[in-house]
Amino acid sequence: MKFRLQLVREAEDGTIPDIAEIMIIDRNDCHLGNLGLKLEETKRILANLQDVLVRAQLDEYTKKVKPCAECQQSRNCKDYSHITFRSLFGNVIVRSPRLVHCSCFKGAAKTFSPLCELLPEHTAPELIYLETKWGSLAPYTMASNLLKDVLPMSATTNPATLRNHTLRVASRLEQEMGEEQCMFATGSESQLARLPHPEGPITVGIDGTYIRNWSDKKTQFEVIVGKSIPHEGDSKCFGFVQTFDEKPKRRLFDVLDGQGMQMNQQVIFLSDGGEDLQDVQLYLNPLSEHILDWFHITMRLTVLKNCATGIKAKNQEVGDEALKYLESAKWYLWHGNVHRALDEIEFLYDCLEPDLCDDDGEEVWSDANKPLLEKIQQYVDEFKTYIERNSVSLVNYGERYRAGERISTGFTESAVNYVVNKRFSKRQQMQWTQAGAHLLLQTRTRVLNGDLEKVFERWYPGVKAA
Ligand SMILES: [Zn+2]
Repeated sequence: MKFRLQLVREAEDGTIPDIAEIMIIDRNDCHLGNLGLKLEETKRILANLQDVLVRAQLDEYTKKVKPCAECQQSRNCKDYSHITFRSLFGNVIVRSPRLVHCSCFKGAAKTFSPLCELLPEHTAPELIYLETKWGSLAPYTMASNLLKDVLPMSATTNPATLRNHTLRVASRLEQEMGEEQCMFATGSESQLARLPHPEGPITVGIDGTYIRNWSDKKTQFEVIVGKSIPHEGDSKCFGFVQTFDEKPKRRLFDVLDGQGMQMNQQVIFLSDGGEDLQDVQLYLNPLSEHILDWFHITMRLTVLKNCATGIKAKNQEVGDEALKYLESAKWYLWHGNVHRALDEIEFLYDCLEPDLCDDDGEEVWSDANKPLLEKIQQYVDEFKTYIERNSVSLVNYGERYRAGERISTGFTESAVNYVVNKRFSKRQQMQWTQAGAHLLLQTRTRVLNGDLEKVFERWYPGVKAA
C-alpha cells in the first residue's frame, strides 16, 4: 500500500495554484511494528509541511510589498541574502530579497529588506517558549533530548542553545522589571482608610538554601526561595540569588502586587530571622509584620534537646535539669513570653557549667567531659543570641495557632524543594554561576506558577491563537 501526502494550496477564487509533495508512505505488510504512523515519519511530515508553509507565506508577503505603496511600480531586487527561520518543526532557510527604493521614497536609504523588517527575530516564539519551559523544569541536556525526540527540531539544537534561549527569556523578564525602591509602602492613613476592606492577610514564607558554586567548584552560595499565600486565590513562589540580585524588594513587591495586595492589607512574613531575609520585606506594605518562624525555633530546640539527652546518659541529674529548662523555655516561647524564655535559657546555660561542683565541693565532671559541655554551652549561647536578636518577631504562637493562623514556614520547606532542589540538585553534582542560577530561577518560578504562557502571549500577541 502506498500513500501520497500532498499539500494543496487553494486560492481565494477556488483555483489550485500549487500542490506540494510532502511524503510518500509505503506499507507493504501489516504487523505490529509498522501499523500506523511512526514517530520519524511524523517528524518528517511536520518538517516538510513547515518548509512549504513558511516559504509560501513569505513568498506571498514579498510579492505584496514589492510594488511601491505610492506609485505602485514594482521595485527592483538588488540582491538576496539568506534568513534561517528556526522553529519547533525544523529550520527553514529562505532567500531574503533586498529591494531598491523607487524615486518617491524620501528617506536616505537606497535599499531595504522586507523580510528582515518583518522578522526582527528569526526564531519562532513557540520554540523559545517550549525550550524555556522544559529547560526550566529539567536539566538542559534532558530537555533538549526530549524535544528532539518528539519534534523535528533542527540537528543544531543542543543543551547550550536551549540554555541560551532560556536565559535570554529570563534576562528580558529582568529588564522589564521596574526600578528597585527602598520603600514600596504608600498611602497616608486617610488614603488607606478609603481603600476597600481586604479579604484577609497574605502570608509569605521566605527561606534560604545553598547550591554549588561553579566558579571555584568548592564553595556554595545562597538561594532565597519563598512562597506567598493569599487569603484567596493561587499561591505563588519566587526565588533569587541575593548576592546577585539588584532588585529583591521589587521582585517580592511584584509577586504580592500580582496577587492583588492592597496597601491596607496585612502581610505576614515568616522566616528564620536572617537579617538578609528581613531586609527584603521591610517597607513593602504599611501593615507588614515579621514573625520568627516556629518551625526554625523548634529545629534549634531539637538540637539542644539531643545534646541534653546525651548529657543525661552521662549524668542523669544534670540531664534531667537541662531537659526541664528546655521544656519551659519552649513553653514560654510558644506563648510569646520572651523574657521568661530567656531566663530559662540562662538557667540551662548555668546548669551545664563544666566546672560544676556538688554539695561536697567535688567537681561533677571529669576533664574528659568538659569539652563536650563547653560545646553545648556554646550552642545554648547561640540560641540565646538568636532569640534576643529576633525578640521583636516573637509572637504568641499558641494564640495564633488556636486561631488557625500560620506560625510556620513548613510550607516554604516544600517550596524550597520544589523550586530549587528538584532542578539545582546537589546530588547530581550540578554547579551554577550566580547569574545562571538567578536567571533560571526566574523562568522556573514562572513555569511553576503557571505564568510563562501569559508572558509569551504578552510578548507575541497571537502566538497561542492557533
Ligand atoms: Zn514609488
